[in-house]
Amino acid sequence: MSTDVDLTGIVTTDIAAVTRGRFIASDTFEKTIATGVGWLQANLSLTPFNVIAHPNPWGSSGDLRLLPDPNARYRTSKTGSQTPFDMVPGNLVELDGSPWSCCTRTMLADALAELKAKTGLTLVAAFEHEFKLLDAGLPKEHVMSFAGLRRADGFASQVMAALDEAGLNPEVIISEYGEDQFEVTNAPCDGLAAADRAAVLREIVREIARTRGWKASFAPKTSPSSVGNGVHIHFSLVGADGQPATYDPSGPAGLSRAAGSFCAGVLRHLPAITALTASSVSSYYRLKPHNWSSSYTWLGDKDREATLRICPMVTFGGKDPAKSFNIEYRAADATSNPYLALAAIVRAGLEGLIAGLPCPQVHSGDPEELSEEQRVEKGLRRLPETLAGALDALKSDAVVTSWFSEAFLETFVGMKAFEMASLDGLDEEAICASYRAAY
Ligand code: GLU
Ligand code: MG
Repeated sequence: MSTDVDLTGIVTTDIAAVTRGRFIASDTFEKTIATGVGWLQANLSLTPFNVIAHPNPWGSSGDLRLLPDPNARYRTSKTGSQTPFDMVPGNLVELDGSPWSCCTRTMLADALAELKAKTGLTLVAAFEHEFKLLDAGLPKEHVMSFAGLRRADGFASQVMAALDEAGLNPEVIISEYGEDQFEVTNAPCDGLAAADRAAVLREIVREIARTRGWKASFAPKTSPSSVGNGVHIHFSLVGADGQPATYDPSGPAGLSRAAGSFCAGVLRHLPAITALTASSVSSYYRLKPHNWSSSYTWLGDKDREATLRICPMVTFGGKDPAKSFNIEYRAADATSNPYLALAAIVRAGLEGLIAGLPCPQVHSGDPEELSEEQRVEKGLRRLPETLAGALDALKSDAVVTSWFSEAFLETFVGMKAFEMASLDGLDEEAICASYRAAY
């Protein structure tokens, strides 16, 4: 008879996009809901390389509570581990229960609530993840092929089973274009749950790989020349009446007025929010032209080079096309915190809605083939080309910085500066190796 006790992890995802938490015996979970578990401010200054950045605003003193969200409990016994996977994302609060200004899950919930309060709109989202299986000794097969997936058959079906049992509504798993690269998608849901699911999905996939002695790496570039691992954030808007509000057949490329303004806000603030959606040094090895990632402030119709890609609409099969019509934000990867990334997109979109910005020009064609003058005319600005450049863009956009507390900005920028400094002197190959191991 097993003597194991099942454990429930109450978790928060930090600036490094690492999901951290404390574990309690699962049968005490109900008792933990009211006041949560202890946490500390300085954890937010942890780099992906397991060192607390210094200086940081927190030091060695201070305490918080991490309050589990009982509506966000993700459980599955199908990861191959000895005991069930049981993860409950939570919100960080002060000792009197008031929200902590640096809790990224609260930031997303607040951004979504403000979107709803100011416009009546609700955001629906889904995070699409790519990752590589390392140390798996998989036989070589063609990329994107039937055999490419079948060679990892037990793994792929286990991922789908575990995600399904955990309530993530997985849709499709494929062998992707990169060597030993896979992609898994799940169904859209409300914005907060979508970010929870992104954190959960990464941990479930990593755990299944780990129990086989493999590693699943979500790093944006596992080596400088490899195909990138993107996180594509799909989103659409729903009106106060519960009806889809992204599609309008008479709008540019089918975008409703609201969706056009939302996209305009995102593109306007894109250089500044890139630091929040592509948050590592290696993120910028991926965000280059001709990588099918994204590299310009570009709204494109079904174009995988665009940062905001208007996704295709299926008009047969009896489904309501307006419901599935969505836009994909492609300048994201798994070194960014999903709550923060989505909060930034929502806040930027909301700025566009409030200002009533017109829909940006829907561009087709390669921006690299245009002169700089032509690009300027079309509103195509190059995204930051380094993390340092992205942090500068963040600091100099007063609208974007106004979304965050001073303490949060200081922590974010300070931690990222420390992360960059810790990689000083390493070449791209070694930097990719560091992130490959960390993610
Ligand atoms: N691997 C590409 C990226 O880095 C995406 C390929 C695709 O369109 O799925 O984002
Ligand atoms: Mg893909």
